[in-house]
Amino acid sequence: MTFKILVTDEVHESCVAFLKSKGYHVDVKLSLSRDELIKAVKEYDAIIVRGRTKLTRDIIMESQSLKVIGRAGVGLDNIDLKAALERNIKVVSSPQASTVAVAEATMALILSLARMIPEAVTSLKGGSWLKSKFTGFELRGKTLGIIGFGRIGKAVAKRALAFEMKVIAYDIRDVREEARSMGVHVVPTLEELLRESDVVTLHVPLNESTWHMIGERELSLMKKGTIIVNTSRGAIIDTKALLKALKEGKLAGAALDVFENEPPKTEEEWELIRLPNVIATPHIASQTWESQMAASLMIAEEVYKALREVSSTVH
Ligand code: NAD
Repeated sequence: MTFKILVTDEVHESCVAFLKSKGYHVDVKLSLSRDELIKAVKEYDAIIVRGRTKLTRDIIMESQSLKVIGRAGVGLDNIDLKAALERNIKVVSSPQASTVAVAEATMALILSLARMIPEAVTSLKGGSWLKSKFTGFELRGKTLGIIGFGRIGKAVAKRALAFEMKVIAYDIRDVREEARSMGVHVVPTLEELLRESDVVTLHVPLNESTWHMIGERELSLMKKGTIIVNTSRGAIIDTKALLKALKEGKLAGAALDVFENEPPKTEEEWELIRLPNVIATPHIASQTWESQMAASLMIAEEVYKALREVSSTVH
């Protein structure tokens, strides 16, 4: 059976090449408007997206022939999973592909904050030779609190341990066994993690239970001078509460790769980004050649497998 596949976000060419080699018809249509997408999706058996395309309920409900949704990468918060389930559409992704990229980016952000690297670079490029202004702190002996001890959380732990940090973790799953074997201490509550950490890093998915998981109350529990890093999803932190905590000097700094709106659009978001003790990057944590290539190839294979399953049930 020849299936038709629509790709609406940029993927590595190996993804399209793989699917074409299996005899499938693949169209790449980037930057479709919402209305164009609703119209286009009706003609396809599968759609492949990354994080940019939002597959909302109305789009999914209108998509009569759609059987498979492929999300290249990790995080399914741009897909209405309930609607997909109701329409019996299989949703597949390639979450393992970006683990190392995000873990390395997280370490880069922690180190950049601890040593004020972006500020020092800007200062020197501006012609100033300032040394004492850029006196940072060492990671050795500091406590790193990891919220969400899944693929990325564990990869960050491994790297932080190499920097001789004390690593503690909090997760809703029982992760004690895997943590113990790595030398990571699991704390029973989020509150305990926040009270004990010098550096807090977030690695949970965005869902109803994690939306604004870090708000005013949680920030107030942290030690004065803590730094926070978010490479998961913007809405896990309440932007207004974070801005307040940074302006009041409760937190020493924040490094953010993700925002409640992407690109950021509210006044608070831009004020936050422009604070001198904030490092902000435009959602690039998984943006490595290796990760993009792996995510694209893996999703092509997953979509191929899912469509084969569909065709075997049709016959
Ligand atoms: P994962 O599923 O392997 O790990 C997530 C962990 O969070 C799991 O162990 C889960 O039990 C835990 N968790 C879920 N809800 C929780 C809660 N309320 N409290 C505490 N723990 C909770 O996922 P992963 O591959 O490690 O990715 C984590 C997140 O990172 C993704 O969901 C995605 O949002 C984000 N991400 C961002 C980028 C980027 O470019 N910035 C790239 C990839 C992934």
